[in-house]
Amino acid sequence: MTTPISSLSAKIDTFLRDSDAPTPFVVVDVDLVEERYVQLVEAIPAARVYYAVKANPALPILRRLVALGSAFDVASPAEIDRCLEAGANPNDISYGNTIKKRRDIAYAHSCGVRRYTVDVEAELDKVAVEAPGASVCVRLRHDCGGADWPLSRKFGAEAPDVVRVLALAGKAGLESGVSFHVGSQQRDLGAWDDTLEVVAEIVERARNQGANPSFVNLGGGFPGTYREAAPTIDAYGAAVRTALAKWFPLGLTEVMVEPGRYLVADAGVLRSEVVLVSRRSPADSERWIYLDCGKFHGLAETMDEAIRYRLRTPHDGQTSGPVVLAGPTCDSADVLYEKSAYELPLALAEGDMVDILSAGAYTTTYSSVGFNGFPPLQEHYV
Ligand SMILES: *Cc1c(COP(=O)(O)O)cnc(C)c1O
Repeated sequence: MTTPISSLSAKIDTFLRDSDAPTPFVVVDVDLVEERYVQLVEAIPAARVYYAVKANPALPILRRLVALGSAFDVASPAEIDRCLEAGANPNDISYGNTIKKRRDIAYAHSCGVRRYTVDVEAELDKVAVEAPGASVCVRLRHDCGGADWPLSRKFGAEAPDVVRVLALAGKAGLESGVSFHVGSQQRDLGAWDDTLEVVAEIVERARNQGANPSFVNLGGGFPGTYREAAPTIDAYGAAVRTALAKWFPLGLTEVMVEPGRYLVADAGVLRSEVVLVSRRSPADSERWIYLDCGKFHGLAETMDEAIRYRLRTPHDGQTSGPVVLAGPTCDSADVLYEKSAYELPLALAEGDMVDILSAGAYTTTYSSVGFNGFPPLQEHYV
């Protein structure tokens, strides 16, 4: 942590230099979202991009993605409304949450949303009734090894059950496909090959049972730039392209990809201020650094220290020492990093700004509405 590091966006750095906006806030460079979108399309040209809106649902981002021709993966009626407000065509919206209220499915259907993800028969039944003529995406479970932010267990069915639900969808006369998610911030490039092998087998078995899955949804998992390096997007693209060619040599009618983190993480910086530097005893080598931003202000992904952000301070390059980093609230869970061996400059003092880099994904909407009286995280778009 001793070399000065780049925020990846000159526009953001200019904003931070000139801004006296109250901290904590996130500033996002929408041009960098566009750059990441273009890179991903080039890496996996066969796939249509469905942006996972939950990663950052801000209108300036959605509007830019609409202009670029992106489609959208949503989890709720409010996210559908946002996408429509940004100008998205309802045909380009996929309702990817496997857990939907019946009335929310009916609402989505009334908006013209056609594609719905399910992982059990009970959810398929709801979709078949509330969204007649739906296109059904059946989600396969994946163990998410290699992912820094796993999404396993809660979602998806085992392969034989996916085949069964696909067959039922076929019997109901519905178009169908298979989806999976290898886990967020997936740094093991083999994950897509492993999963596509299973998907290819599922598609063949479903065909033998009268269904005809016509699309495959590769999910998300592409990386942001955090403390531990991830492969380049070209390496991800090559791994996915090779796996698709290997397991679907005849090609696929439709391939979807659902990036969230990759498109927005690097496009944002979270600026926070040091509230207190504490050495409990003069002999303590480890300082506690309390920022005005913590787990309840958008840094939820520091849970279990899973996502380890890069930090920038005004004293980078000077002698540093070990720190525990914590947020400002009166909850002892509001500790960001205690076990991850973070070091910060010894000169760091109360009032200094600490920039949390690549913080454009899974921060703004993860902020509490007012725990301890602290206002929600502010957002700026440049
Ligand atoms: C969260 C989510 C995504 C986005 O995942 P990233 O790892 O951020 O790219 C994509 N698809 C589904 C179904 C999700 O739940």
